[in-house]
Amino acid sequence: MAKDNRDKKGMRRIHYVPDYVVFDLETTGVSVYKDDIIEISAVKVQNGSVIDTFSTLVNPLRPIPKEATMVNGITDEMVADAPVLQEVLREFLAFIGNSVLVGHNIQSFDMNFIYDASMKLYNIPIENDFIDTLHMARKCLPKLSHHKLVDIAEYFGISSEGAHRALNDCIMNQLCYEELGKLQADIPVVICPGCGAEMVKRAGKFGEFYGCSNYPNCRQTKNIKDI
Ligand SMILES: [Zn+2]
Repeated sequence: MAKDNRDKKGMRRIHYVPDYVVFDLETTGVSVYKDDIIEISAVKVQNGSVIDTFSTLVNPLRPIPKEATMVNGITDEMVADAPVLQEVLREFLAFIGNSVLVGHNIQSFDMNFIYDASMKLYNIPIENDFIDTLHMARKCLPKLSHHKLVDIAEYFGISSEGAHRALNDCIMNQLCYEELGKLQADIPVVICPGCGAEMVKRAGKFGEFYGCSNYPNCRQTKNIKDI
């Protein structure tokens, strides 16, 4: 598969939705092309409340670099008897269904990892729309100097105990997402007339305007006075 060929990837949404699945991956490293998934966790939420969870270690069939183990604490021994991704990803896809997916930095990391894995293993694109809490946090908490998940949890007084294991991060992020959702409650939802994605406020040479969040695939804009 050609690099970055993810043309069926869903759209990034900007605004809080009350029904969603938060998911998180632990991996052998940060490269979508070279690294492998070693843990997948998810929590399903309806109306702001957790109704189901999914969590499994994954045997990557290769040694886990010690740098990765230092971050997430997952060792070769721990994954030795775990199922392989080929088995696990199918269960994960059944769990998420067509839910909107929520995660921290998922737009450039987790979504790409699962998209590429699903294409490679099953030739099935993952088309779910997604919400990236990293983007939400940068918009809602611009004065915070760092926007790592633990920084946001700390800001909201949410426990970050057990961070960097996938299920703990999902639970932590679910609480952060709900708080971020409250902060953006006053921001109007503007839908792009061209593609149906949400539009976001941007600063241009001649002042603020609304641009499609699907940019550069969609280049629609709206005058702020027309909102
Ligand atoms: Zn658009």
